[in-house]
Amino acid sequence: MEKVVFLDRDGVINRDKGYVHRWADFEFIPGAIEAMHQLSSRGFKLVVVTNQSGIARGYFTENDYFSLRNNINKFLMENDVNVLATYHCPHHPNGTVPKYALSCNCRKPLPGMLLAAARDYSINLALLKDRHLNLPFFLQTAILSLHNLK
Ligand SMILES: [Zn+2]
Repeated sequence: MEKVVFLDRDGVINRDKGYVHRWADFEFIPGAIEAMHQLSSRGFKLVVVTNQSGIARGYFTENDYFSLRNNINKFLMENDVNVLATYHCPHHPNGTVPKYALSCNCRKPLPGMLLAAARDYSINLALLKDRHLNLPFFLQTAILSLHNLK
């Protein structure tokens, strides 16, 4: 089975300063790159899942988000950390940008991004779906990671 760890971005990989959308403002949390590198070197694939409601709120554009994502992934690759995929939710029901102002199934704690990753990369979520359906998203992902450790 593929070993996958799902990571949030803001507050896990980088300091959560609120709607971070510029590389100049992006500050890695000390130890985060090292931890990701260790996970990689133990055979875990890294998938980043992040709520980015600042897009729906009009604080920044989805292209701003992609630009920052590219900078992050480039920097990580230069540090021998390969991120398999990054998923983001640009939505928020109270957003001001009509295209993104909706209730979706990808905004955490809903599992849409996890399910998308499972579909795109053939990640087996069977155990998690059967036994932990009612748990919050990140508890589910933690359990998935533990399961894959065995
Ligand atoms: Zn969404």
